[in-house]
Amino acid sequence: MIDFQLTDEQTALREKARKFAIGEVLPVSKKYDLSGEFPRDVLERAFKAGLMNLRIPKPFGGPGYGAIESAIVVEEMAAACAGITTSMYVNELGAEPIILMGTEEQKRRFLVPLTKKFKLISFATSEPGMGSDVAGVQAICERRGGEYVLNGDKFFITNGDYADFFVIFARIKGTRRHQGICAFFVPRGAEGLSTGKPLPKLGHRASDTSVVMLRNVRIPSENLIGQEGNGFRLAMLTFMHTRPAIGAMATGLARSALEYAINYSKQREAFEQKISNFQAIQHIVADMYARIEAMRLLTWKAAWLLDHGANANIASSCAKLVGSEDAMRIATDALQVYGGRGYLENYAVAKLFRDAKLFQIYEGTSQIQRQVISRFLFEEYQSTIKGT
Ligand SMILES: Cc1cc2nc3c(=O)[nH]c(=O)nc-3n(C[C@H](O)[C@H](O)[C@H](O)COP(=O)(O)OP(=O)(O)OC[C@H]3O[C@@H](n4cnc5c(N)ncnc54)[C@H](O)[C@@H]3O)c2cc1C
Repeated sequence: MIDFQLTDEQTALREKARKFAIGEVLPVSKKYDLSGEFPRDVLERAFKAGLMNLRIPKPFGGPGYGAIESAIVVEEMAAACAGITTSMYVNELGAEPIILMGTEEQKRRFLVPLTKKFKLISFATSEPGMGSDVAGVQAICERRGGEYVLNGDKFFITNGDYADFFVIFARIKGTRRHQGICAFFVPRGAEGLSTGKPLPKLGHRASDTSVVMLRNVRIPSENLIGQEGNGFRLAMLTFMHTRPAIGAMATGLARSALEYAINYSKQREAFEQKISNFQAIQHIVADMYARIEAMRLLTWKAAWLLDHGANANIASSCAKLVGSEDAMRIATDALQVYGGRGYLENYAVAKLFRDAKLFQIYEGTSQIQRQVISRFLFEEYQSTIKGT
């Protein structure tokens, strides 16, 4: 059965998220974007409102929401500010490997602290020499007695400067490619762990992006998540669960771009009439709306598969690919509707344009999503037509 109706609980959650986004995020979105200051106060209020750590199961203090509920909340937040949303929902990315492969005891030790008090957790696969090619992790872990010693550098780590905890991927010395990669829960206070200055960015300026340096960081072996050598699989499984949220973020940003374009075109006059009278403008906003509907449906389909325990790998990649490509296009079109004013920072569409670009890059670039989808098409997809 296909059902596009939200439940009463989902509708109430959307209203709660929308109220928070409009009341607490939108009014400060520009301030944090221009200053690059970390929006800790907003995040703390989101935590108190129960709008963070969405997927952490109830036994560990979280709301235990499914992927659909996460997508609903994330869309609302991103419609107000994609940068603050990135900061807020990196906790989902950091917690997911523990939810997926942590033991009950690890979930108690690592997830409960995230739900008891406001805490941040970051996720670190990327390195100065590697981003797309996760099998190429260079950071090293060496087992010494009852602990592992970690060495290496992690790059582009969201909330890196502010995180209380990290999930860090490193490989066992001497292993190559997919074999030997491990994931560790690492507290910020671990001796030998330090972070660099925030990296200045084009967009999502309200989110912190940093370098994490590991110099002989000793981690108890009980902090290994899953088994030795399953880190690559864990990273891919994590992305399967989190990529729909990027589709949801892209949908939220695109929705705002559409609304700004409608509002502006109804006010701005050219050739002695509102520009909304021009069919060229009407068709731009019609295309935006149709694409946003498609983005949301792909996102919800991937989320639905996850919530039903099905393999959502291809659906997640489709949701992220279409969501991020269309968000970039819609933000560009919205800027065009504003004409020259769209190019000024005084108007919100310039920020949407800058923010949209990141969706095509993090959690696997658009090229990587196409690679995932095309591999499926050439290796598994069953054609209905025989012959050429
Ligand atoms: C603001 C921001 C926040 C981020 N947050 C995090 C985080 O919290 N944690 C984390 O671990 N990482 C994070 N990242 C890193 C992000 O995931 C990587 O930047 C991304 O995966 C791309 O890796 P790269 O930058 O090394 O590009 P590269 O992998 O060097 O790719 C360069 C170009 O080559 C293309 N390319 C690479 N391989 C292929 C291929 N096989 N086929 C076709 N094209 C290919 C890419 O699509 C891209 O266009 C963040 C990045 C940014 C910008």
